[in-house]
Amino acid sequence: MIKPVLAIHGGAGAITRAQIIPAVKLAYEDALRSILAGGERILANGGSALDAVTEAVRLLEECPLFNAGHGAVFTRDATHELDASIMDGSTLACGAVANVRTIRNPVRAARAVMEHSPHVFFAGDNADAFAREQGLEIVDSSFFSTPDRHAQLIKAQETGVDSIVLDHDGVVDQPPLDESKKMGTVGAVALDAHGNLAAATSTGGMTNKWPGRVGDSPIIGAGCYANNASCAVSTTGKGEAFIRAVAAYDVAAMMEYTGVSLEHAAHKVVYEKLPPLDGAGGLIAVDKHGNITMPFNTEGMYRGSVVVGQAALVAIYRE
Ligand code: ASP
Repeated sequence: MIKPVLAIHGGAGAITRAQIIPAVKLAYEDALRSILAGGERILANGGSALDAVTEAVRLLEECPLFNAGHGAVFTRDATHELDASIMDGSTLACGAVANVRTIRNPVRAARAVMEHSPHVFFAGDNADAFAREQGLEIVDSSFFSTPDRHAQLIKAQETGVDSIVLDHDGVVDQPPLDESKKMGTVGAVALDAHGNLAAATSTGGMTNKWPGRVGDSPIIGAGCYANNASCAVSTTGKGEAFIRAVAAYDVAAMMEYTGVSLEHAAHKVVYEKLPPLDGAGGLIAVDKHGNITMPFNTEGMYRGSVVVGQAALVAIYRE
């Protein structure tokens, strides 16, 4: 009998230098725990991996602590441009949106692209228009803004216009990971009771990024991948490196072509292939047997996992 599993991440980065306020660390851990529980409920009731990752990422988008949806980082022009993707490992169906500005939950738009269009990837204003036609919730772009993210932008711009900062590398209230040295992005991977795998990823990108820039998160194979034959993967980190490494697909391909374990393949990508490309970050992955791995080459990564019916694990630093 297959035990369904769910894993989530909320970005990777460096440990904050200032003293961490225990209450702030707790807030991150509580958020991870309650979001895991939201996705777990779906799996426990026999729901699909696809529904579980959609819901977990939607909840991460709604949480202002993480860089996706409400709480997304700012571009160089003080605007928001959001990216998201989703993939169904049972059919290899997938959907993605990039540079969207008004969709409250970009992961839902990615799923609508997958299920209600003949295409895989929409970008810019037409992606927003597609979501509106699909009846998804549309918000003013200011909905995504939070004072902390704006302070991060100001700080990055004081350092120079070329300072493009990963989300958790710039925070003001001293969250557990140094917001000026952290990547943001959220993601989820799951295995359901039917043996199907799915992955989803969503992000505001990087603070002070150039308008129009697209990272790895909405790119199938780079920031997100799922195939029942191997595994489901969601990444976080310096998107340019993850695109060059085709990071998420590389984990799956290595397993399929060489027969190595999930852990072996994921560790090779995160610890050997990404670092020479300046690829700071990490990933979460689950295979068809329910094995979970969550490697990162930074000092920490907000993450959590649960085997349905068992106690959930949440962590930020190395154990
Ligand atoms: N991978 C994301 C991007 O490059 C950023 C992140 O994970 O923090 O847009």
